[in-house]
Amino acid sequence: MHYDVIVIGVGSMGSAACYHLAKQGVSVLGIEQFDITHDKGSHAGQSRLFRKAYFEHPDYVPLLQRAYRGWSDIEKESGVQLLYRTGITYFGSRDGDLLKAIGKSASIYGIPLKWYDNREAAMKWPQFSLQSDHVGLFEPDAGFITPELAIKTLTKLAEKEGAEIIPNTEVSEWQVSDDLVVVKTSGKTFKSKKLVIAAGPYTKKLLAEFKPALNVTQQLLAWVNPERWDDFTLGNFPCWVMESDEGEGIYYGFPILPNDRFSPPYGLKIAYHRPCQEIDPTDVLEFDASEEEEVLRAMTEKYLPGAMREVVTFKSCLYTYSEDDHFIIDKFPGYEDQVTIACGFSGHGFKFAPVVGEALAQLSLNDATSLPVDFLNISRFN
Ligand SMILES: Cc1cc2nc3c(=O)[nH]c(=O)nc-3n(C[C@H](O)[C@H](O)[C@H](O)COP(=O)(O)OP(=O)(O)OC[C@H]3O[C@@H](n4cnc5c(N)ncnc54)[C@H](O)[C@@H]3O)c2cc1C
Repeated sequence: MHYDVIVIGVGSMGSAACYHLAKQGVSVLGIEQFDITHDKGSHAGQSRLFRKAYFEHPDYVPLLQRAYRGWSDIEKESGVQLLYRTGITYFGSRDGDLLKAIGKSASIYGIPLKWYDNREAAMKWPQFSLQSDHVGLFEPDAGFITPELAIKTLTKLAEKEGAEIIPNTEVSEWQVSDDLVVVKTSGKTFKSKKLVIAAGPYTKKLLAEFKPALNVTQQLLAWVNPERWDDFTLGNFPCWVMESDEGEGIYYGFPILPNDRFSPPYGLKIAYHRPCQEIDPTDVLEFDASEEEEVLRAMTEKYLPGAMREVVTFKSCLYTYSEDDHFIIDKFPGYEDQVTIACGFSGHGFKFAPVVGEALAQLSLNDATSLPVDFLNISRFN
């Protein structure tokens, strides 16, 4: 019942934190309120884009380079493939915010990109019907990760290194008393020297005094049946991102993944990345997909004709937006000696899990980290 570090939340960042902490030889307990991987948090839905020419901000690129190596190390150690280097094609106008921001990160960090003018892009990716001002920008060293398998793999590796993981157990309360962390679940009390809170959309429930706003939104993911199935399968169709014409966010999607190697649903996955409906994550997650379905239908009719012959299924997943859409990785104010938090991943955090886990382990064990996460500290909101 007494550990060096307790991690609350064994999802994307918590599983990686457990893994990195256990590798340091300390005693670790990870507590997860649901199964190890579930659809009531932020990590469900078969695939996550991995890209390095980061349009959100160039400061993320060094972390992405480290995360990329991190995923490779985890794959080698586990023997499980998690990252698929398919490349990603970005579509938009050459002078639009999206392609300019991608180009900026790429030029600062020497990330290879290949430009295709409108005619070349239309020939290379004939599945798309591009606007006359659209060009294509291909990032070869990008692709997608399988999130559920990644979390299960990280959890198994953490356990192999000696971590104890307890699923289906909610932490109801934590406190610091006489320099020790006390964590309560129904019926049990655990103690540790340090605490990591990686609770995703449930962060506010555990951190009532947390100051920067965290807004949880319910996002739609759609799997659809295209008319010409073979045009959209892995190997024939890229991961893609397109500047949205709604003036906010991006449309994106993945190729159809073979059902003998990937978990369901089986179909062409498409989505729209921008804040959807705000919700309380503890509410029942009933989702009215009609409005989002309309947006996706209009998008596919315009840009991917023939892609949305029929809907296979809709699923929803939760974003936790910080006030500036950037992550929060830091010591928890008022409890700096004991508590480290990671939250507010604002719909783009999964690809970073290995490096976030490493930063959380360092902050927790050494009170500082050598990783460049300073720009993600809490004091920026003061
Ligand atoms: C639709 C969608 C698409 C996305 N696409 C991408 C993408 O293409 N690329 C990308 O990089 N990122 C993407 N993301 C974002 C990424 O998935 C998230 O940023 C990431 O999963 C956040 O990880 P987390 O650890 O904060 O949350 P989670 O993975 O949800 O983990 C938090 C865990 O804490 C547990 N927990 C909470 N409270 C307690 C408690 N009291 N006791 C015990 N356990 C508790 C939860 O049950 C949960 O398992 C997407 C997200 C969504 C929803």
